[in-house]
Amino acid sequence: GSLLAAVELRKRFGATTALDGASLRVAAGEIVALMGPSGSGKSTLLHCLAGIFPPDAGEVRYGDRSLSRMSETARSALRRGEFGFVFQFGQLVPELTCAENVALPLRLSGVRRREAQRRAVGELERLAVADVARKRPGEVSGGQGQRVAVARALVTQPKVIFADEPTGALDSLNGEQVMRLLTEAARASRAAVVLVTHDARVAAYSDREVVVRDGRTRTFG
Ligand code: ADP
Ligand code: ADP
Repeated sequence: GSLLAAVELRKRFGATTALDGASLRVAAGEIVALMGPSGSGKSTLLHCLAGIFPPDAGEVRYGDRSLSRMSETARSALRRGEFGFVFQFGQLVPELTCAENVALPLRLSGVRRREAQRRAVGELERLAVADVARKRPGEVSGGQGQRVAVARALVTQPKVIFADEPTGALDSLNGEQVMRLLTEAARASRAAVVLVTHDARVAAYSDREVVVRDGRTRTFG
């Protein structure tokens, strides 16, 4: 069976239909790219899959559990413990150092400061940005900042990483480096990745591309 599955999701925002029967299955360790035109429903599908907001109809299953039948407390524990998130910008806390940013999800799940800091620095090394550990996000480049964001998503060893346009604010060289490091690290830890992108070079790092159009999914390959 699949690790994560969306079945016939529907979602409206006022008069706008964002999802109109979207379905998707993601296997453990699989890297799936959601592609399609702007406004087609990719981000909404990702947010529903991650339990950030509920669909109006349809079901999201994680393993043998239905997200909609879980309590908000249980969903939030799932997001913190088993899911990792990378977004296009603005996700680092400016007052903290890069290492403290990476350590933050560990601290929130009760890991002691020194152990969290040790694991954060190890993750920054894996993403080849150990040199920014003591800097604040405002003092690093866009490419370095995005690697720090990837390190923060990976440090809790999630089962699924949700990445919404993770390279959208980077030039193509930095974008490809971030994608290479993200997918290598995900494969090494057997994490699945659900990636939203409209860039074919970014999608090329996935195992499978799913096209979203008018709130529906179409799978190829
Ligand atoms: P994509 O990620 O493919 O660009 P989205 O999922 O962001 O598409 O949006 C799908 C449609 O739903 C768009 O028409 C968008 O404007 C609308 N939409 C998304 N989120 C909201 C929201 N919070 N409120 C109102 N409309 C929204
Ligand atoms: P992306 O670039 O990933 O497609 P968007 O810019 O579409 O993201 O959306 C960013 C955020 O704004 C999301 O949380 C989305 O739900 C919300 N949003 C998107 N479209 C609208 C809208 N028409 N009205 C209000 N919120 C929206």
